[in-house]
Amino acid sequence: TTTTKLALITGGNRGLGLATAHLLGAAGATVLIGARDERSGHDAVVELRERGILAIAVPLDVDSPASVEAAVARVDREFGRLDILVNNAGILPEATTADATTPLDLDLFRRTFQTNLFGAVAVTQAFLPLLERSRAGRIVNVSSTMGSLADQTDPASPYYDLVVPAYQASKAALNGLTIALAKNLAAGTTKVNSVCPGWVQTDLGGPDNRAAAPTTALAAAEVVVAAALLDEAGPSGSFFDAAGPV
Ligand code: NDP
Repeated sequence: TTTTKLALITGGNRGLGLATAHLLGAAGATVLIGARDERSGHDAVVELRERGILAIAVPLDVDSPASVEAAVARVDREFGRLDILVNNAGILPEATTADATTPLDLDLFRRTFQTNLFGAVAVTQAFLPLLERSRAGRIVNVSSTMGSLADQTDPASPYYDLVVPAYQASKAALNGLTIALAKNLAAGTTKVNSVCPGWVQTDLGGPDNRAAAPTTALAAAEVVVAAALLDEAGPSGSFFDAAGPV
């Protein structure tokens, strides 16, 4: 697939976000690397440009309204539109919490929801006018099967015994956002979907995650890119992984 689209990836400086930037860039997209840490965003852009990819660093902390506002103003000024928004920034503080099964840590819930849900809501709300100007806007919410209520309650699911309450609730809520927003956008040209990248070799799951996870970030990013480059006939309000609908 070749595309000349303009894509913004939150948390694009490392992990799955950076891998997504590599694949979208290789497909011809101009990639805006949203990064809360300026240095890390710059390093990612250097790495992408070495591969011949058109990449630009955009300072973006999804938890900061001022940062989101500045990012949207800049993209509006320089491009006047956005074709693809990948809400990838996410955290899993429970990976490094001693007793992650205690579902009553309010601060942990607040922090997790702040980035994984409210961050996605804030960025989506801010960029929606630019996405609508694209006339084929695509929003990808990077979710997780860990957020699937069906998997959490099905003893036969491999996800049944995994308990990270704040993370799971935040991703379930993100999927709820996807469905509601898709209905809201149904009359227009913008599509929104949730994807699960699988269990990926990144730093998200704590220090041992890279060695334990089966999927490279580049392989996992394929499903993110598939959702980002959906054509007009593609779904909206769906939740899928590499194998199909979750
Ligand atoms: P990483 O920890 O490697 O990367 C997380 C990214 O999110 C980093 O770029 C980080 O920036 C960024 N980020 C965190 N908070 C903010 C914020 N407030 N503003 C802007 N950026 C922020 O994890 P992954 O690459 O694995 O995770 C990417 C997405 O994939 C997440 O949404 C995660 O839930 C999801 N996912 C991951 C799975 C896995 O197995 N790894 C499985 C299923 C879903 P910084 O470098 O500054 O910290």
